[in-house]
This record gives sequence, C-alpha cells and structure tokens, in this order.
Amino acid sequence: MVEPQPPAASGRPGLGLTGFVADRARNSPPASSAQELDQQASSELEQAAQILSAGRFAVLTGAGLSTDSGIPDYRGPDAPQRNPLTYQQFVGDESLRRRYWARNQLGWRHLRRAQPNAGHRAIAELEAAGAITGLITQNVDRLHEDAGSVNVVDLHGRFDRVVCLACGTEFSRDQIAVRLDEFNPGFLARAEAGGQIDLAPDADADLDSAELIGSFTVAPCEVCGGMLKPDFVFFGENVPKDRVERSFGMLAEASALLVVGSSLTVMSGLRFPRRAVKAGKPVVIINRGATRGDDLATLKISAGVSESLSRLAARLSKSAGDQVQ
Ligand SMILES: [Zn+2]
Repeated sequence: MVEPQPPAASGRPGLGLTGFVADRARNSPPASSAQELDQQASSELEQAAQILSAGRFAVLTGAGLSTDSGIPDYRGPDAPQRNPLTYQQFVGDESLRRRYWARNQLGWRHLRRAQPNAGHRAIAELEAAGAITGLITQNVDRLHEDAGSVNVVDLHGRFDRVVCLACGTEFSRDQIAVRLDEFNPGFLARAEAGGQIDLAPDADADLDSAELIGSFTVAPCEVCGGMLKPDFVFFGENVPKDRVERSFGMLAEASALLVVGSSLTVMSGLRFPRRAVKAGKPVVIINRGATRGDDLATLKISAGVSESLSRLAARLSKSAGDQVQ
C-alpha cells in the first residue's frame, strides 16, 4: 500500500515568516465579537474535556501544531504551487536529487532553530499527567520531543537524521551538513544573499537558482559510498511498519482520539480517525479550517491550536490527577 506523505502535490504555502505573521493577523477575530467567540470556545473545550476524560486518549498532530513556532504550514491561501519530490524521483534522478539536497541544506537549519510552543508543551504536560496513551505526529521537526514528550511516533520521519539507502547507517543531519559545507564552499552565503527564502515544514526551501543547484555536490555515505536520504517518508513511500504498529497500539489502548493541527489530507494520517470510529471510539478534532476527517469527528473545534491545547491541558491534567488519587 502506498502511503503518500504530507505535501500533496497541490501546494505547500512556504509562506515564509512574513507571510505567516500576516496569516495569523487575518485569522484574529474582530475585537467586538472576541468575548462571544471566547464563550463559544470555552463551551466547546469543555465538551472536548468531557469526551477525552472518559479514559486515556491518543493524540495525532500535524503541521498546524508548529506554525506558532514559525514553521509555515503546507497549505494556505497564499501557498505557491510546489511539487513534492517522490521517492522514485529522488532515487532515480541525479539532478532532482541534487536539487533536493541543495534546498534541504538551506531549509533544515530553519527547523533546527525552531523552538516548541505552548501547544507542544501542553501535550507534554498531558503525558506527564498520565492522560494520554501516546502521541503520533506527522511533523518531522522534533518539537514534541524538545518540549518533553516521550512516547512519540514520528510517523513521517525526522529532519535531524539521514540514512544510507545501501547499508542502512544513520547519520545526524549536523554531521552531513558539515560534509556538505566542505563539498560546497560558499554555497550558503551565496544562496542567502539572494533574499528571503520561503520554507516548508519538511525542511524544503524555495531555492530555484539553476546555477547554485547545478553546481551543488551531494555527499555519499561515508561507510559504503551509497546514496544518502533525509530520514523522511517521501511521497510514494510507505510509512515503516513498526511505526504504524506502534501508533495502532496507542490507539488500541485509548478510549478516544484527539487530532490537532492536521487537515488529515493524506491517508497516513486519516486512517487513525477512521480506525477509531470503526472501533466505536470518539474523535475530537481541533484545527483551524476544514479537515478531511470532519465527518468522522464526534466534536470539531475550529480554533487556534496552541491556545486550545493549553486550556485543555490545564483542565485535563487536573482531572487525570483526580483519577489517580
Ligand atoms: Zn552506506
């Protein structure tokens, strides 16, 4: 079974930091109705808390979790059209592979600098309080782990690791960055001199200079000389079986599923709410805007992710604590 990875050919915003700020401002409610909206949000969050406090629940997160950490979402109104590279293109086409690595060499630094936000911290708090069975994330940015979450499945991989497709050796992305810098002296400075570079949550960067990309040298595996690939699940590639099984295990132990900040566009994410519903477990979705799983949701809250999670965690950590006593 082919598990498409996030980006979906239909375009990732790559809003860049400036675009992101504008997007947030646009989503803010007008001052006059803020109180009314707040009351509505409180009542929806209370409903969510009641559903989720029936037992421990599993959590599934997506790119919307990290927008408040300055990592733009894949999708949005200002999104430039981008075609994500498929696994087959990556392994089969040397020039596309070179382009991919050149852009990743810019983009991964942005993810490395990003810090977890209140939403990530709230989920870590829920885990510490014993309220959740585990966390499945579609994000590759590792911000959940940075915030203190322990039982995490990085469904689509992680930006800070590189694997050799021939011998299986794993390298840190830092290590590979040093080698790429050695092979490509001056590349970063020249690329960054070109002005603002839009970024995507999969560490892609919007670099199109044919000259910079054409002259980029890709690093081979130091152990065997084989082909290196960032440890992401590419479009057209399967999510590794052990990750899927661990995720299903988290869901099996749970009495409900909370989906946060994911539009559930790809099947690798959508299958979790589907599976929950099939097992008769309620699904709560918190996401600004429609998701592909809205018709599966017992409760859908269209609101800011960080703030909603903070409020939910404050409410649920307390009730989880009460149950323990
Ligand atoms: Zn190797």
